[in-house]
Amino acid sequence: MSNSVLIIDDSENVRDRIVKILESYELFSRFYEAEDGLEGFKRLLSAPVDIILCDLEMPRIDGFKFLGMLKSRPELQDVPVIILTGMNDRELKIKGLEQGASDYVTKPFDPGELVARVKVHLKIKKLQDELKRTNELLLELSNTDHLTGLFNRRYMMEALEKEVQRCIRKTGNLALIMLDIDHFKQVNDTYGHLQGDVVLQKVAAQLQKELRSYDCAARYGGEEFVAILPDSSLNEALFVAERIRQAVQGNIFHGALAELHLTASLGVACFSQEQSLSVDGFIKQADDALYRAKANGRNRVESQE
Ligand code: GH3
Ligand code: MG
Ligand code: MG
Ligand code: MG
Repeated sequence: MSNSVLIIDDSENVRDRIVKILESYELFSRFYEAEDGLEGFKRLLSAPVDIILCDLEMPRIDGFKFLGMLKSRPELQDVPVIILTGMNDRELKIKGLEQGASDYVTKPFDPGELVARVKVHLKIKKLQDELKRTNELLLELSNTDHLTGLFNRRYMMEALEKEVQRCIRKTGNLALIMLDIDHFKQVNDTYGHLQGDVVLQKVAAQLQKELRSYDCAARYGGEEFVAILPDSSLNEALFVAERIRQAVQGNIFHGALAELHLTASLGVACFSQEQSLSVDGFIKQADDALYRAKANGRNRVESQE
């Protein structure tokens, strides 16, 4: 039980009573109190809670204004708010629910009813939180290459499309590096597929390490990797590509792979406003450069022509 609750009411008596009731049911480990909407809002910004009980009529910032303030903060929008209203405040109840409250409890409240409603909304909140986490995880999985942890090709294509659009809008630079491990089939044939996987993971980690945080490294397929470098000129990207080539060549493997001397070939392209290339055309430029790196002897970087 690590739930926390915020109780906003201008009456200290009401707040005390609610705290006592909730304490006796052991639903919460933390209780926060506030005298009006503003104090409650400030409280929330410093300590997020699982549920809010909020009076409607209060001096200064009342319950309605408080509900309005909650809407302005995306991170607070999913916190359930149970409004506290008088027995005959039919209009206020409706207005409160319309303004985003999840439920209401009428004063003077029945402890059993108060607790039952709080429990329902805590449960809904928990399910919602789980659903959100699952969705985030699914999104991450659908964007990630499971072997290397880099972005996958699907995500990379989306990211490149966005970067190309941004580059056209802002007339900035955008570079693309394509890397293909040399003679990787031989690595598999000599050391086995599982050791081949270890090599792929190693190269992926090196690629990631050589890039800046806002670059995007992806596994394009098999033993091919792509890096998107926003705001990079051709020369800057060539410099990065050369660093990556050296890092791959400089690998010292251990154990079963101790004899392995790994190299990679890289092709670099820079997006050109004048040519107004499609994303596919841009990728082809980097791919053609990579092809030339292979044709010219491998373990080298070639740039677009
Ligand atoms: P080149 O220097 O011309 O690039 O030669 P290469 O042997 O690297 O190229 P090729 O395309 O002939 O072989 C790529 C190999 O990569 C073949 C394939 O079995 C292997 N491969 C693709 N995906 C994986 C993977 O997930 N794990 C492992 N271990 N091998 C993979
Ligand atoms: Mg009041
Ligand atoms: Mg290949
Ligand atoms: Mg290869």
